[in-house]
Amino acid sequence: MPRLDTAVHDVATDVIAAPEGDAPYGGVVADEAWAAEVRRLATERDAVLLAHNYQLPEIQEIADHTGDSLALSRIAAASEASTIVFCGVHFMAETAKILAPEKTVLIPDARAGCSLADSITGEQLRSWKAEHPGAVVVSYVNTTAEVKAETDICCTSSNAVDVVASIPADREVLFCPDQFLGAHVKRVTGRDNLHIWAGECHVHAGINGPELAERAAADPGADLFIHPECGCATSALYLAGEGAVEADRVKILSTGDMLTAARATEAESVLVATEVGMLHQLRKAAPDIDFRAVNDRASCRYMKMITPAALLRSLREGADEVHVDPVTAERGRASVQRMIEIGKPGGGE
Ligand code: SF4
Repeated sequence: MPRLDTAVHDVATDVIAAPEGDAPYGGVVADEAWAAEVRRLATERDAVLLAHNYQLPEIQEIADHTGDSLALSRIAAASEASTIVFCGVHFMAETAKILAPEKTVLIPDARAGCSLADSITGEQLRSWKAEHPGAVVVSYVNTTAEVKAETDICCTSSNAVDVVASIPADREVLFCPDQFLGAHVKRVTGRDNLHIWAGECHVHAGINGPELAERAAADPGADLFIHPECGCATSALYLAGEGAVEADRVKILSTGDMLTAARATEAESVLVATEVGMLHQLRKAAPDIDFRAVNDRASCRYMKMITPAALLRSLREGADEVHVDPVTAERGRASVQRMIEIGKPGGGE
């Protein structure tokens, strides 16, 4: 548990006020009393607590499982608990509900959205499909349930290339919503009939090539761990191609695969290009390695809306419950299942 305040107070009397505007829930300190009350309420609700790798360290530490979005959804489906508390953003909790429709799924703050998932709506995807009849739709897991329901095959950053490669070469492919992951897939598959939606995540797009090049030059012995949604993924491959950094130093990885690579690398330092919350799990996985963010301002404000106060409120009130209508859930589930059948899905973001 990271630096818990050991002051004893009666957390049951903590009042959690409704936040103003889009501010997160606040006013609760993540101390030992909070941790004990969270555990007690989770047991009372028969709830399993899941936390994404980008969550605040204190939320990651109190969770039963920490991981990437798809891995957590699969844990949700396999869990014997009747309630899932998903500490992440809304589309992730929806994916858990799609895979575990019989369970109660709670997100501690339903306002925790995602700029990437919001890049395309179900209506926009239906219009795009109408312009390309017969095309196969491949969507990254960072999409709403409505978009998944309009999708033929979902993909994660680990298997996007395999998913697209599994589609007959003469079929058009519509890839959404992330343009950087789409560009990565197009480059690797060399496919001309792949159309890419111009969506992006504001956090990952803010990690840019020049910044990466500067950091890589200043630390020539470091490995580079890059999430393919990063604006710098292309630059990283370009730098490797130019010989500016050794090609085997550049690793394009999902967040789950970053942890595996962290345990395996012999590098003494690693530059990490993804949301800064990831550093917590990396440092735990390989404490002797010096992990540094390429951009330490790359923090997702939606992920950080899941505060200690929001989690306490969620467990006290059984809020905010996530609903997906059964028809949308069934169609969305089919696109996720097709992805799993094609190969190692990894974990997505
Ligand atoms: S980091 Fe980007 S893709 Fe991830 S939840 Fe935040 S806005 Fe969405």
